[in-house]
Amino acid sequence: MGGDAELSPISFKKASQMKKFRLIILAALAIFALAACNTAPKAKYVFLFIGDGMGFGCLSVTESYLSQAEAGQIGMGQLSFSDFPVLGAASTYSADHQTTDSAAGGSALSSGFKYNNGALCISPEGDTIPSIAYKLHDAGYKVGVMATVCIDHATPGAFYGRVDQRGKYYEIGSRLADSGFDFFGGGDFNRPFEQQPSCFEKAEAAGYTIAYGRDELAAKKADADKIVFFQKRDTTHPLSQFPTRLERIQRNNPDDLTLAELVSSAIDFLDNDKGFFMMAEGSMIDWAAHSNDLPGMIGETLDFSDAIAVAKDFYKKHPKNTLIVVTADHETGGPAGNKPDLAKVKGMLDAQRNSGDTNVDNYMSGENNKAEISKTAGIGWTTGSHTSDRVPVYAIGAGSEKFAGEIDNTEIPRKIMEAMGINF
Ligand SMILES: [Zn+2]
Repeated sequence: MGGDAELSPISFKKASQMKKFRLIILAALAIFALAACNTAPKAKYVFLFIGDGMGFGCLSVTESYLSQAEAGQIGMGQLSFSDFPVLGAASTYSADHQTTDSAAGGSALSSGFKYNNGALCISPEGDTIPSIAYKLHDAGYKVGVMATVCIDHATPGAFYGRVDQRGKYYEIGSRLADSGFDFFGGGDFNRPFEQQPSCFEKAEAAGYTIAYGRDELAAKKADADKIVFFQKRDTTHPLSQFPTRLERIQRNNPDDLTLAELVSSAIDFLDNDKGFFMMAEGSMIDWAAHSNDLPGMIGETLDFSDAIAVAKDFYKKHPKNTLIVVTADHETGGPAGNKPDLAKVKGMLDAQRNSGDTNVDNYMSGENNKAEISKTAGIGWTTGSHTSDRVPVYAIGAGSEKFAGEIDNTEIPRKIMEAMGINF
């Protein structure tokens, strides 16, 4: 009889009332969800890390190294960003090549458009396109740009420079002065004196304080409005790039800077209530991978990971409105493990180090030597150039969910702006 009661007119009325009630509840929930969406915290402290040439293969090899060589066990060790909750994969093709170079790749990441290889923020039609760093600076955010090579190299240059050819270092370096961005860090200018006035004179005339090394930075930063922080001048090493991680271990020179120190100095200089945007490039992962230098690539990736750890500490203090995005401009070298035994890399490096030979070139240079190291460790390489593989995109923090799945590199700066609540 219970079944009949359910069909009675009274029950019908009740059911219809219930339906109305449910609809009202659903509508209320929808409005609430919408309101919650609109009040979701926006990212105001944004870190974009670009590992030049850092593909999935490079990360797998480095994680295997951490496990096999450092922990002495089979597995995948953890980089500072391995546990980021969002993982995506970005396509990197340029406007005119399936395989991008660093200029077109960096410019896609900085401005959200495709370019011909070689061009920095100049479209195939010849139009100048501003990077999001300019848009954010105009919107009142402090901006920092840093790299472990010269500051006018392709990737950092893509965030403030506009040239049709990446080799126009003097033009890119000159553009730094005009940008008005707050913090630059790196090796040095590459060709500052190619024309007059020099890039140094231009930067100083535009109000930049130039500091070489951390002592000068400490002495000058309090009075500085905008700062350029370079590696301390050192006749034993090329000025335009930082020593690599492996060179640093050998040199044991306390003046050597790292990307981690740049990021930490940039946070110190840029931190303010309105917020900041900074791009930090692990520049030399690419160079190591170009020469199929396995220990070099692992070392530079570990240095890159250390720099992201600094941002992660900042994120932990401001979890609601910090966004960290880690990606690459392209993949280089195509390394992959075939029954890899990366403990052997550590063994070879330790033996070299213990020999007391401080010349890093003794095991780093010479194609046979590098090839032998890779062969012994079970790592093969596809090429000495870039590949067209997708690259990883790791994200954590405010708006990080936008970076999941297969995306294109041009979407990354657009999604950053979206996460910050600013129109692209
Ligand atoms: Zn590159």
